[in-house]
Amino acid sequence: MSTIKDSETQQQSMKRNLYHLIINGEQVASSNNATFKTFNPATGELIAEVAQATKEDTEKAIQAARHAFDYGKWKKSPINKRSRVLNKIASIMRARFNELVELEILDTGKSLSTAQGQVMQAIEDFEFYAGAIVGHRGVVNNVPGQFHNYTEKEPVGVCAQIIPWNYPLMMAAWKIAPAIAVGCSVVVKPASLTPLTAIILGEICLEAGVPEGVVNIVPGPGAEVGNYLVGHKQVDKVAFTGSTPIGKNIMERASQTLKRVTLELGGKSPNIVFADADIDAAVDGSLYGIFYNSGQSCEARSRLYVQEEVYEEFVGKFVEKTKKLQLGNPFDQGTHVGAIIDQNQLNVIDSYVKSAIADGAEILVGGKVAVVEGYENGFWYEPTVIANVNHEMKVVQEEIFGPVVVIMPFKDEKEAVKLANDSEFGLGSALWSKDAARTTRVANQIQAGIVMVNCPFSAFPGTPFGGYKQSGFGRELCIETLDLYTETKSIVSYYGSRPLNPLGV
Ligand code: NAD
Ligand code: MN
Repeated sequence: MSTIKDSETQQQSMKRNLYHLIINGEQVASSNNATFKTFNPATGELIAEVAQATKEDTEKAIQAARHAFDYGKWKKSPINKRSRVLNKIASIMRARFNELVELEILDTGKSLSTAQGQVMQAIEDFEFYAGAIVGHRGVVNNVPGQFHNYTEKEPVGVCAQIIPWNYPLMMAAWKIAPAIAVGCSVVVKPASLTPLTAIILGEICLEAGVPEGVVNIVPGPGAEVGNYLVGHKQVDKVAFTGSTPIGKNIMERASQTLKRVTLELGGKSPNIVFADADIDAAVDGSLYGIFYNSGQSCEARSRLYVQEEVYEEFVGKFVEKTKKLQLGNPFDQGTHVGAIIDQNQLNVIDSYVKSAIADGAEILVGGKVAVVEGYENGFWYEPTVIANVNHEMKVVQEEIFGPVVVIMPFKDEKEAVKLANDSEFGLGSALWSKDAARTTRVANQIQAGIVMVNCPFSAFPGTPFGGYKQSGFGRELCIETLDLYTETKSIVSYYGSRPLNPLGV
């Protein structure tokens, strides 16, 4: 099979009526010609049809990845060659930035600035790993006697990479970039609600010179395609981002073949505002923390704790600003909060809010499905602030994955830490205080993979991203990720002049 020629791909618009699978360097229909539809959540309109991978297609993709890994040239190619190709991927993405942003907005309903930031980060991820791979290497260990020991980092093999719908392109980049940087082959399964930009990224990889079979993209149902990948003997690793229940299921099934597993799962991240914080900065950062991406973020700071002395002032300002958040045309620069991914997720969000009301909580603002003029057929939810909660409520303990924050006062540092850690999750967290000793003290006690101090966001290429507790394990977006796509091989050699006779026979 041949790879797609540069000129062909460049002429192809990103916006099409039909998108194909990518298997072994070719854009192909599914084996039974099945397709599924993807919609624009802001308007409810059909965007396109997408080839739906069958088990047979998934098998072909695994075999293509296997063949590329076992016999192909990618993993053996010099590091600077792989680095150059990753940079080429980034430069093609840069040249087609606006198209990528447009497609991501159409498929997800997210707002313009949100999509722009995420597409830019996806690009920077490839640039980051293009650089990072050059410095990724084994070590020489000090061992006694006339022995020399060094380690090699070898690519782990064929990786199944399963992507969620909330950051379709960025999550695909987080997974594909480090894996191919070290020489792995990948079979990527995008989320069925948002498959488009991952498919385009697969095409861009081919255009940039990634050899056939190294990057395969197989959209299709998780229960079928995802399941098949996770159960397959010739898949060496599964990297999954998604919900905690599916993550547990994947880990269990992956154990049958002892696949390497990394899991980025759900969260219920605390956001702690101390009385000595810059209150206005804390208000703005906390708004971003929950309402960014319409709250559909694993690291959404959805539990807001405010110290008693400033509780009233903070809540007053926070609610005022929440009321100012604009919902509407996602392509409009002035829109702050985009759509919800689908009717199902809208129902989930609304039922959480109703459960809070039934539990006796108070809705300070929002609390309903939103009706947005001109977007009546889309899925929208009012940015919602819930007070008067206790720590046993579902709305405080469970991930909602929508624009809903619970807010609670606390007395002192000790109580803040206790409340923050009273969660089965441990992904993100944020602290607001001008006292550096305090933020250091509290940061040391928080059970979470990420602590943001006076800072609205955390995910830059280079910063480790991943969870404690039931938020999963493994870190993405950083140097360490390269280790998670490699095995360490230890090589010991003897350099003495006298032959050794350890058994003494
Ligand atoms: P999901 O778990 O339903 O689906 C995630 C992916 O897994 C999809 O591609 C889906 O098709 C696939 N899948 C479903 N069932 C499968 C199975 N049995 N075997 C293999 N694959 C299967 O999650 P979602 O609704 O797409 O995403 C939202 C969730 O993702 C939230 O819980 C959120 O917290 C989490 N998330 C976590 C992070 C993180 O980095 N920790 C990032 C983004 C999203
Ligand atoms: Mn869609």
